[in-house]
Amino acid sequence: MDNEKDYIIQCENLIKIYKSSDIEVVALQGLDLSIEQGELTAIIGNSGSGKSTLLNMIGCLDKPTAGKLVVDGKDLFKLSKNDITKYKRDTIGFVWQNNARNLIPYLSALENIELSLSIGKNKNKRERAIELLEMVGMSHRKNNILSELSGGEQQRIAIAIALSNNPKILLADEPTGSVDTATSNQILGLFRELNEKFNLTVIIVTHDRQIASKVNRVVAIRDGKTSSEFIRKRSYAEELQNLKEGSVNSEEETHVELAVLDKAGRLQIPRDYLSALGLEDKNKIKIELDKDRIVLYSPEANTNEEKVG
Ligand code: ADP
Ligand code: MG
Repeated sequence: MDNEKDYIIQCENLIKIYKSSDIEVVALQGLDLSIEQGELTAIIGNSGSGKSTLLNMIGCLDKPTAGKLVVDGKDLFKLSKNDITKYKRDTIGFVWQNNARNLIPYLSALENIELSLSIGKNKNKRERAIELLEMVGMSHRKNNILSELSGGEQQRIAIAIALSNNPKILLADEPTGSVDTATSNQILGLFRELNEKFNLTVIIVTHDRQIASKVNRVVAIRDGKTSSEFIRKRSYAEELQNLKEGSVNSEEETHVELAVLDKAGRLQIPRDYLSALGLEDKNKIKIELDKDRIVLYSPEANTNEEKVG
């Protein structure tokens, strides 16, 4: 990985073990992930793969067990209690699937936001609340009470609240989990807009592959480790432009899959690649440098013949 870059989030070999009286769950098993300032990233993975655990570590809601976790220049292992409170307030905004349940149904959209603004800090709460409503495209609904708003609109209010302290990073855990496809597309659109307009770093955890296909960078997590990454070949904006011009080939793959290479040079090879060559039960495989590529193959393979093909 490129050390020159300024990463706003750096996880290296991150481990999280949950311990209760008699059992231990290793939720993160040496996870590597680096995110640049201003990136919008989706994290996908099956239920139980460690997605929420990862977000909770980045958001400092819980402490990792071991590894490296540096966010916005701060080593999260070394923060004092006060630092943690400050970090959670100033650096991170959190959006959950059922955020709206923390809102008050009989207050208006505007009042809900005003209520959430910390006392003393925002001198003119009304002004700031109006500004936040505008950021999430809800100005026209400011006087509607919450229970008059749709699920998607309520989620927008929750996002406005998450933005109230101007966080550098917005973490969203299954933010579209309880809304229909059209609404979930709108919410994704809002995240993209916030990302582009304010250079906000956004991480969206989702099991929704539809959502994932619409962002530039998708990180797949399996068993508490990053397993592979999918990077969009063209930006989403370019793709929309192509769509408008009618020059899009729908058969064409939008993303390239990249394997994750950790600091120690370890590589995770996608399981289906291994099984395609019958290598799943091997613990050693042949590796060879061939000019501009590294070739992996079965120890039994006749390499000369293979290379000709
Ligand atoms: P995901 O969000 O991908 O569904 P989680 O991060 O919630 O996965 O969970 C990863 C693993 O850690 C699961 O096996 C889960 O049961 C376990 N886990 C999560 N939170 C706790 C906790 N507070 N105590 C014990 N085990 C937990
Ligand atoms: Mg989860």
